[in-house]
Amino acid sequence: MVDLVNRRCGYCDGSGRINVGESAASYQPCPVCTGFGKVRVPSSYGTCPICHGSGKKNIGEFAPRWVQCKNCHGTGWREPPTSCR
Ligand SMILES: [Zn+2]
Ligand SMILES: [Zn+2]
Repeated sequence: MVDLVNRRCGYCDGSGRINVGESAASYQPCPVCTGFGKVRVPSSYGTCPICHGSGKKNIGEFAPRWVQCKNCHGTGWREPPTSCR
């Protein structure tokens, strides 16, 4: 039985929308939380160690270019490493 809790969506930082405009601001609903601003994850989940909870990774070399973190699927939350099994 997994206990799900609402957490702040890392990809949009809880705003429910993301800015996709390059020069002028242009907002779209966040694809991770579909505009809700929160994601439901198991209560045991912690901050994603790859994106440090931001839900995204910068793949741009010169200008910032953000993609969803594959490790946490953009939520910013990740199951803790299994130390024993
Ligand atoms: Zn979101
Ligand atoms: Zn991540």
